[in-house]
Amino acid sequence: MQQTLLLIKPNAVRGGHIGDIISIIERDGFKVKKMKLLRFDENLAAEFYREHIGKSFYDKLVAFMCSGDSVALHLEKEDAIARLRELMGDVEPEKRKPGTIRALYGEDKTENGVHGSDSVESAVRELNIIFNRTRI
Ligand code: ADP
Ligand code: MG
Repeated sequence: MQQTLLLIKPNAVRGGHIGDIISIIERDGFKVKKMKLLRFDENLAAEFYREHIGKSFYDKLVAFMCSGDSVALHLEKEDAIARLRELMGDVEPEKRKPGTIRALYGEDKTENGVHGSDSVESAVRELNIIFNRTRI
């Protein structure tokens, strides 16, 4: 079984879509292993999004991630990483397939509703940051 991290980002929490997003995931057969509500600060965002430091959208991304609560889920399923990315939809708004989580609950390119780990290495790193190292 493969493990991955899903983050329900601040715009989707503000919009009242926590339950809707978890329903999509559960209906697809994912098992929820851990779950918590947390608020990113700049340090946590910098660690989590270190690959994007220095990019044009970085400051906007960090401000958004720190703008409200997020919900983190440790998920398990066969082929969990690729399947979650499929259910999430693309980072480019015009490429999001109808019915995907970002098509349903994404506002724009930055405020796109959800994050999902993109590889086994990212999943291990991100699950560790969110569930083993943050105390909130
Ligand atoms: P994904 O979340 O699909 O893995 P990336 O890792 O490329 O996408 O980007 C991380 C996050 O940064 C995205 O989910 C989105 O919130 C934001 N983002 C990425 N690219 C841009 C961009 N060009 N303009 C604004 N925000 C962006
Ligand atoms: Mg990414």
